[in-house]
Amino acid sequence: MGKSPRHLLGLQGLGDRAMADIVARAETIQARGARPVCAGQQAVLAFFEPSTRTSTSFALAFQRLGGQVVMLNVAQSSAQKGETLHDSLSTLLAMQPHFLVLRHGQNGGLQPLAAATETSVVNAGDGAGEHPTQALLDALTVKQIKGRLNDLTVAIVGDIRHSRVARSNAHLWRQMGSRVVMVAPPELLPDVDDYPFAFFSTDMAQGLKKADVIITLRLQKERLEKQLTISADDYHIRYGMDHEKLSYAAPDAVVLHPGPMNRGVEISSTLADDATRCAVLRQVTNGVATRMAVFEWLTHAA
Ligand code: ASP
Repeated sequence: MGKSPRHLLGLQGLGDRAMADIVARAETIQARGARPVCAGQQAVLAFFEPSTRTSTSFALAFQRLGGQVVMLNVAQSSAQKGETLHDSLSTLLAMQPHFLVLRHGQNGGLQPLAAATETSVVNAGDGAGEHPTQALLDALTVKQIKGRLNDLTVAIVGDIRHSRVARSNAHLWRQMGSRVVMVAPPELLPDVDDYPFAFFSTDMAQGLKKADVIITLRLQKERLEKQLTISADDYHIRYGMDHEKLSYAAPDAVVLHPGPMNRGVEISSTLADDATRCAVLRQVTNGVATRMAVFEWLTHAA
């Protein structure tokens, strides 16, 4: 194991070259297949919040690179006996795996942990903080569809205030030289100071104008501090993505969704199933190659 491991904790501050490098690696893996750069290595996957796509995709990615995965069963873990997250993580790191892939409900806080270990720590979603691999796989998907990452208008729609996907995407697109627009009801827009570079709107027709990419977000019910004033039905009518609202955007705009989708709330079922306009399953496919690329990048493999 190297003395100073790389970590992937977030995209804010990572730099456009590293992000472009990971996306390029994912493209190469898809075109030429994977090399066994993680043979003989072990990754512990610890998901303290629910996950379908991200956990499975990290596990498949690591195994396709030749590594072995240990998936912590949180429901059967000492978290249920009152162990703090910090103590659980220190315990897992004391076993010295090569990688620790971690999802939990607290925002941030991984930096000190990562600084003190020889294990590569990968953030698979921290509260309303960041979800770096989601934004990277979104970038790969957009690159395939639009042919570029710069000079695009990317609209992020929905519960931006509580979304780690929104934060990682906003920082990625800004650094790639694209425009970021945030569209949501006032109570779900983030603080302006968090995203001084973004354009904010509460109106879909205005916010989606000329958008090339629309990232639709789920209402993060588990993170709402108080009951929303807008009902789910009203939310769908005003902010739910459907073919009609898609017509406000550029004619060839593509809709992304990180999943899980709540059909009939933030996206209509018809749009969700329209693979010519909505790339949700393509994103899932790209997630495996992107996470392979991340592991490759973390191992400093040339
Ligand atoms: N799967 C994504 C996340 O973990 C999006 C979501 O849950 O709404 O952040």
